[in-house]
Amino acid sequence: MNSPGAGRFAPSPSGELHVGNLRTAMLAWLFARSTSREFLVRIEDLDRSRAGAEAAQLAELAAVGIDWDHEPVRQSDRLPLYRQAIGSLQAAGLLYECYCTRRDIAEAATAPHSLPGSYPGTCRNLSKAATPEQDGQRHDRPPALRLRSEVTSWTIEDQLQGSYTGPVDDLVIVRSDGVPAYNLAVVIDDAAQGIDQVVRGDDLLSSTPRQAYLAGLLGLTPPRYAHVPLALNKDGRRLAKRDGAVTLESLAGKGLGPELVRDLILRSAGLPAGTLAGALEAFDPAGLPREAWVVEPGELS
Ligand code: GLU
Repeated sequence: MNSPGAGRFAPSPSGELHVGNLRTAMLAWLFARSTSREFLVRIEDLDRSRAGAEAAQLAELAAVGIDWDHEPVRQSDRLPLYRQAIGSLQAAGLLYECYCTRRDIAEAATAPHSLPGSYPGTCRNLSKAATPEQDGQRHDRPPALRLRSEVTSWTIEDQLQGSYTGPVDDLVIVRSDGVPAYNLAVVIDDAAQGIDQVVRGDDLLSSTPRQAYLAGLLGLTPPRYAHVPLALNKDGRRLAKRDGAVTLESLAGKGLGPELVRDLILRSAGLPAGTLAGALEAFDPAGLPREAWVVEPGELS
């Protein structure tokens, strides 16, 4: 029997989820369940993690009606898996040491012809024999390991955004503190967990060509992608906790329980209010709004 494949929601446990995060999670669930896939939750705790946030986030997901298959995995428990992939990239000569600081990169990136936000390749050809003085680098800090990319851009197909081409630079694979970088971990995890459908916020669309290219280098098949519009505040910025009552706890304090929040989110996506099972009946990706959900102050209360 063919495996049904899986979708997922992968929160960073940095605090409570807000209605924008919950909306992305609900849409990811609907995409997965409407295609008979499993739905997995992965805790992405390599970067930021706050004590108690993981349990709170799982409770928030359950409160709006999301269920998931299997125990959630935590990235911090999966370091050996990432190390194995790093070893294979290293063995293939695809990694190099980079001593640049953020400031070095910001300064170099203002040079003509550099892609905004992309690494300009400063350390790509450092010779092993060169002394720090010769190559002008400060070797007084541990290096990050970067990918020796053989392309400068890559095209992915997105179920909502269509064909999308974005830059691929020499992305960081291992950070200078020795921790595997998010772009590596996400690629390894999705493949290792059998995730073949990635539904997430469209703020990550521009990272996707890098991730799909990296997957190919590792001999992995990239998943199908669907990047959904984010929730924004009235100023057009990504919704955040400073925008007022946007978490389940703060909304409950205003008398808005999780079922009402779920209903608001479903309506914002053009779906009928009620249970997620009911929304599933009506769910059609082609009918989803393609613009951001602008959350006006007071809209939620
Ligand atoms: N952990 C990331 C976040 O919370 C999501 C990464 C992903 O979905 O690929 O923004």
